[in-house]
Amino acid sequence: MEEPKSTYIIGFEEIFIKEDPGNGRCIWCNKAQKFNTAHILSKKIIRKNHPSNVLKRSVCTECNSYFGNKIEDWFYKYSPLGTWANQLNRPANNILSNLKYVPNFLWSDQIKEWIIVHHDKVKDILATQILLNAENRLLTLHYDQSGSKQVNDVFKINLSIREKLINGEFTEYLDHKLPENFSPRIIIYKDKLILTTRTLEDKARLVSKVSAEDENSSDFQLAHINPNILDKLTIQYSWSLQRYFILCAKIGFEFLSQIIGQEFSQHRRFDDFKKGIHKARLDKIIIPFIDGKGYLVNRLTPPGWVGYVKTANSISGFPIMTGQKKNCHSIFIYSMQGYLLFDVKLFAIEPCQLIIAKNCNLNEVYHIEYDITEQSLRFFKLEKNRVIINKNLDFEKALDTIRNDQHLSMVTLRDYSPPSLLKQ
Ligand SMILES: [Zn+2]
Repeated sequence: MEEPKSTYIIGFEEIFIKEDPGNGRCIWCNKAQKFNTAHILSKKIIRKNHPSNVLKRSVCTECNSYFGNKIEDWFYKYSPLGTWANQLNRPANNILSNLKYVPNFLWSDQIKEWIIVHHDKVKDILATQILLNAENRLLTLHYDQSGSKQVNDVFKINLSIREKLINGEFTEYLDHKLPENFSPRIIIYKDKLILTTRTLEDKARLVSKVSAEDENSSDFQLAHINPNILDKLTIQYSWSLQRYFILCAKIGFEFLSQIIGQEFSQHRRFDDFKKGIHKARLDKIIIPFIDGKGYLVNRLTPPGWVGYVKTANSISGFPIMTGQKKNCHSIFIYSMQGYLLFDVKLFAIEPCQLIIAKNCNLNEVYHIEYDITEQSLRFFKLEKNRVIINKNLDFEKALDTIRNDQHLSMVTLRDYSPPSLLKQ
């Protein structure tokens, strides 16, 4: 993608949404729907629900469970979304406690290794694990929230692991689809050992290495993992792009429906988009990665725009908006050159830019922000007579102005296109 021409800070003004009573038809399939209530942001990625996060009488039970079972649940099991949700929601909810154990593999830049993360009801979301690294040395990864665990304690753990291993007291998880640079390891899960490797050869290497070591061995190394893993673990080796696009598109479209009304979202111009979402083949597409790095080194999604409609070649660059608060789900809805655009970021981490429909002009730019820390859901719009502050002006002063006004949200805009949005 070409470099942005310029970056701006914009203040968006808060708006208040009236609850939409619904018109008794599903916005996704148009079936009559009288009673069902659907959550826009799933209850699992928010801490407290809000009236404007709910669509009444306008998403049928069938469509609702399609998104719930086929899309959202998948993420809590197999993607960093589950990890992030778990970490940010604690201790408010044990949100993922109903899941069976599914190992989740995330890349840590901190130690340059894959890490296995738990998703169910256990105290430490990072499993204690002993892995055999590329230099043929044993490394104990220990998730230590307080930082109080002594090296001696960890050696005790190592020794008990060694004993169990020699006695054959372990189960195995062998999967050749694990990344090639995945170090074979033993993880502890609810006091049980799980030997996790790509191949039988890896397994044999690991078992013989651990069996040969004792507590004095200099080959046992220890790494404490920083509990604040949000910013550091951002790559999962199996991440379904398609599901992620659908999840983000669903959230954007339902918020748009909430803001503008269901007559609007039932328009035929959205037929292609809805078909694309409902009839998608939900393959588990494994993202390309090199040494644990995903797209563009630190992303799980490809850069740039993904279209649910055919677009002209000339429109590759729309401006991209970013909210400036941490720990938020942030959604932008706007139109340019007749294309309806969603710019969605969950957990302020993975951006997703979608072209939803053609021949659709919105009069406003909408920003929806769910703040996980404050447990607030707020709606904003960009006013026609808005103030736009170019970054070449006094940046800090501009930030202060916007920060000090409770009813403004602060947004940066990277301008990848002729700035028609700014001239409207
Ligand atoms: Zn439906």
